[in-house]
Amino acid sequence: MTRVLVIGAGHNGLVAAIQLAAAGVDVTVLEGAARPGGATSSSACTLPGFIHDDHAAFVPMTVASPAMRELELEREGLRWVTPATVMAHPFEDGTAVALRRDVGETVASLGATAGGGWQRAMDELLPHATTLVETILAPLPPLLGPPRLAAALRRDGLDWVRRMLGSIEALGLEIFDGDRRATAWLSGSAQHSGLPPSTAGSGAFGLLLQVLGHSHGWPLPVGGMGAVADALLARAEREGARVRCEARVERIIVARGRVQGVRLVDGEELSAGGVVSTLSMQPLMRMLEPGDLPGRLERRLGAWRYGTGAFKLDYALTGPVPWTASEPRAAAVVHVAGSLTELSAAAQAASLGDVPERPALVVGQQSLHDPTRAPDGRHTLYVYAHVPSRYKLDDEEVAERIEAQLERFAPGFGGQVLARAMRSPRATELENPSMVGGDLGGGTMELDQQLVFRPSPQLSRYRTPVKGLYVAGASTHPGGAVHGMSGRGAARALLRDRRWRRTTALR
Ligand SMILES: Cc1cc2nc3c(=O)[nH]c(=O)nc-3n(C[C@H](O)[C@H](O)[C@H](O)COP(=O)(O)OP(=O)(O)OC[C@H]3O[C@@H](n4cnc5c(N)ncnc54)[C@H](O)[C@@H]3O)c2cc1C
Repeated sequence: MTRVLVIGAGHNGLVAAIQLAAAGVDVTVLEGAARPGGATSSSACTLPGFIHDDHAAFVPMTVASPAMRELELEREGLRWVTPATVMAHPFEDGTAVALRRDVGETVASLGATAGGGWQRAMDELLPHATTLVETILAPLPPLLGPPRLAAALRRDGLDWVRRMLGSIEALGLEIFDGDRRATAWLSGSAQHSGLPPSTAGSGAFGLLLQVLGHSHGWPLPVGGMGAVADALLARAEREGARVRCEARVERIIVARGRVQGVRLVDGEELSAGGVVSTLSMQPLMRMLEPGDLPGRLERRLGAWRYGTGAFKLDYALTGPVPWTASEPRAAAVVHVAGSLTELSAAAQAASLGDVPERPALVVGQQSLHDPTRAPDGRHTLYVYAHVPSRYKLDDEEVAERIEAQLERFAPGFGGQVLARAMRSPRATELENPSMVGGDLGGGTMELDQQLVFRPSPQLSRYRTPVKGLYVAGASTHPGGAVHGMSGRGAARALLRDRRWRRTTALR
């Protein structure tokens, strides 16, 4: 039987392996790190008994994604908790706006004018949330979603497409009738994509996440993100796939336009009839020899752009965070930035190459909702800010700016810290060379790197000009986040090309 090698045991690599093994293919996943999971992992990086999500943490895309749903990972023991207060956005005056699962409670939190705008938007969009997310995630070209959405939304559909192609800031100001406070609350969600709120295309990300907050919640896996990787690994092994850790690939071997196998960093060569790389574009190009790909494609991938890096801090705390406002005290996620002006300034500074004076933060309070994450009465805190991938400041100075932001909205926070762990963009890339510059999306998600341009028209459907070589991962459509769509897409493309049995019946 022909062997297929998958490079990288992040969630996309594991999803690809499950699809291939379930179709009867002999598949081995090669993972450079000591354990599988990639950016879907958790660890006790501060103190024993405190479980921290190392990278990804809030996974509405996971529970909404067809590629993940069909795996029924709950059968492997995966459990979810879905907090009622999805997210809160505090302001300097001690107030906050909350995104609650319940639309009515969210409308109340927004106040009369902005609340009315949100109610109208959700009346139009919420009934079609599943079609919306499946259209955005669908393989290219998306055949079923757009006509279904057009039929459901009628003339409103075109208006929503226009708004989503624009910036989240413009979208918010339009639907909230100029209310900057509500727009800051909405724009904070675009931070999860790494896009500044004034950037074209950020409208789709920010809005989709907020809609999912109502339709699916922003669930947390019980026991930490590592539980998602564990469930994927269990499923992959049950299907017969093998995962080899500490097997870093140095070279994809290509001869006469066809993939032959790979060479590991220790010199071991493994032959294969098919290779699926889940790494982002820069490390993919390093694994190929110049000339393996046509010149135009090489130039395109050589110009692939990474965005800002995530500077991450994890804390073990004596108790819950003493937020001034009440809404964040119950929220799974807190967007710490303050006003729309400050949120935009922080994002712009980071994308122009400066560490923001007042960074905008994504904060996770997982242990408030999942008591398995910390010892009794104690708590974890997950924090990241977007910073340039390279900067002149000491890491400690960056951490101080982040902590000053936390103190601004939760005075006394510092007094609760038992231990802290830090992960700079540089450290992230050292750990996982696919996350270049600590970019959480495998390359900026600006419009010119989306859809067929992710990463290029020739690769956007997971095939490459090299026979037997396929691509998946965050640099390919539909981009970063834990949804497994590209892992599934690459496996299916390979199976179709080989006329191997299609994976219509995953056991
Ligand atoms: C700070 C942060 C926060 C995030 N938050 C969220 C979130 O809340 N929700 C969400 O959905 N997404 C989030 N993301 C994005 C999400 O984690 C990623 O887009 C996704 O996990 C990428 O999965 P992947 O399988 O494509 O790649 P990865 O998970 O990066 O896996 C790639 C794997 O390849 C391995 N590897 C690298 N080089 C080699 C080599 N040469 N040979 C063999 N193996 C190699 C790596 O060790 C790694 O295991 C976040 C990311 C970051 C960094």
